[in-house]
Amino acid sequence: MPSYEPPLKDYRFILHETLKVHDETAIGGYEELTADFTGAVLEAAGKIAAEVLAPLNQSGDVQGCRLENGVVRTPDGFRDAFALLREGGWPSMECDPDYGGQGMSALLGACVGTMQTAANMALMMYSGLTHGAYSALHAHGTEAQKATYLPKLVSGTWTGTMNLTEAHCGTDLGLLRTRAEPQDDGSYHITGSKIFISAGEHDLAENIIHLVLARIKGAPEGSKGISLFVVPKFLVNEDGSLGERNGVVCSKVEEKMGIHANATCTMDYDNAVGWLVGEENKGLRAMFTMMNEARLLVGMQGLAVASAAYQNAAAYARERLQGRAVTGAANPDDPADPLIVHADVRRLLLDQKSFVDGGRTFLSWVAMLIDAEKRHADPAMREKAADMVALLTPVVKGFLTEEGYRLAGQAQQVFGGAGYIEETGMSQFVRDARITMIYEGATGVQALDLVGRKLPQKMGQPIMTFFEYVKGYIKANEDDLTLAKHFLEPLKKASKDLQAAAVFFMQAGMKNPNAALAGSVDFLHLFGHVCMGLAWTKMAKAASLALREGTGDPDYYNAKLTTGRYYMSRILPETALRLARIETGAEPVMDLPAEAF
Ligand SMILES: Cc1cc2nc3c(=O)[nH]c(=O)nc-3n(C[C@H](O)[C@H](O)[C@H](O)COP(=O)(O)OP(=O)(O)OC[C@H]3O[C@@H](n4cnc5c(N)ncnc54)[C@H](O)[C@@H]3O)c2cc1C
Repeated sequence: MPSYEPPLKDYRFILHETLKVHDETAIGGYEELTADFTGAVLEAAGKIAAEVLAPLNQSGDVQGCRLENGVVRTPDGFRDAFALLREGGWPSMECDPDYGGQGMSALLGACVGTMQTAANMALMMYSGLTHGAYSALHAHGTEAQKATYLPKLVSGTWTGTMNLTEAHCGTDLGLLRTRAEPQDDGSYHITGSKIFISAGEHDLAENIIHLVLARIKGAPEGSKGISLFVVPKFLVNEDGSLGERNGVVCSKVEEKMGIHANATCTMDYDNAVGWLVGEENKGLRAMFTMMNEARLLVGMQGLAVASAAYQNAAAYARERLQGRAVTGAANPDDPADPLIVHADVRRLLLDQKSFVDGGRTFLSWVAMLIDAEKRHADPAMREKAADMVALLTPVVKGFLTEEGYRLAGQAQQVFGGAGYIEETGMSQFVRDARITMIYEGATGVQALDLVGRKLPQKMGQPIMTFFEYVKGYIKANEDDLTLAKHFLEPLKKASKDLQAAAVFFMQAGMKNPNAALAGSVDFLHLFGHVCMGLAWTKMAKAASLALREGTGDPDYYNAKLTTGRYYMSRILPETALRLARIETGAEPVMDLPAEAF
């Protein structure tokens, strides 16, 4: 059975040596992020991940969820584990204290979430979606709706879902047909069928609060006629107690490739009572609060699963004896050397390690921007941070999931044939990671959002801010000889590739939108690599400083520098290939007639 070890030392290095979060006193709440405080929180979260969540990951996959007389049974142990998370206050960490939350930073939430998701992605989806529903209601609900639903969602007594998809519409939500009929008392009757609804029905909580997109009778066609409704499984009485069962049932639980322990449900609404959230026909805008948060969460899932797979692959490569090192036996007393002596196995592992370490720093940096957006003392900084978060959201979602899946596959490769056998758990990592590239908008849709909406946003100001930040960082560190050749130079080159791609899109894309869209996924990867290059440069700076000052374990810091050099020299040059593809424009992709496929 695979195991999970919380990377506590790495988080300390990222938070306190690389990003120096305790110095960011202009962001509200960061003054409490001392190394002792974050260390204590992460240690407690990591203990639950390793000892409670990880041991249920494989059994949850084997058992899956069962639909019995309209009730979904989660796998053995899930109810207790979920109750433990609830009692420990983990779902409420980042939530508003006015509703019972602890008001902690998104940064700490991201670190905790990544560890717990690495240990058991399917289980953590129940609370992840609940947090998304909480955020949408917090941002767009009436005071009465907030008072009714938020305290229960925050405490985890109730859970939440997002209901967008219908059989005939996933990406193109303008086609959706679920109807909402206004009633005299101000409520609506919701009728329609939603498919693929994660955590739509289960036995972990007393009530399930569905956020549902539907079309009010007489609303305009397309996406301009969609409204958002809150539809509880059990109606809620005035005093907050549970009332009658509402007209919503789960009619099917999907058999699927991975995340077997998270129920993917068909939800049938038959005159279910719901209430409008936000304004009529502005439902997509309101739902985007939940979708944007979910996109970041899914990017985190890609990273988290790859990190768990990597840990197991590294352990296996140290133990499994096979072949001899080409330069002479490493373990002459054993019948063979461990896999880790072979250059190609090391390549597989370093691809993973450099992604996992760099990805954690990248994600932590984005989480800091989220905190700055919400809590920075200076409104101008809040706005700047919000623009950056919007720009980087499709990169986090698209890049971390595509790479996370690819690298979970590489971890499986390290196991050879054993990786293909379910018992080792490596197949589950690959199967679980696969959905992250699809739900919450598939990679192509993220790339479309990045190139079509986020790049031109505010006349290109957010991407210019990003470029200025990278340029400023390189300039500020140009005298640091430990960084110059192996980090700053490749970062500069990669950032230039990104700028060249952006200029190409602006020029060629104006003439033919397909010239930009044909290269949009390449751009997403190019952007992701530059973010990782920046993350690695920051980590290298922190590691070099620690070595110079003689603080801590030199082996640890040297390993960071070696891994960083690997990323910068072997992975980052992919930006040139991506740029070359982008610059071929529309023709290679669009020339073949549809009937020739
Ligand atoms: C396990 C699982 C859990 C899910 N959970 C939820 C949930 O909780 N709530 C919910 O509402 N939905 C959920 N979904 C649905 C999921 O979000 C959709 O499946 C996804 O958004 C893609 O929509 P689709 O399946 O209709 O694919 P389609 O929209 O048919 O797209 C098919 C392919 O075409 C591409 N494509 C489509 N349009 C464009 C375009 N304009 N430009 C470029 N490429 C395009 C897509 O990227 C995709 O690769 C879940 C799905 C699964 C499988």
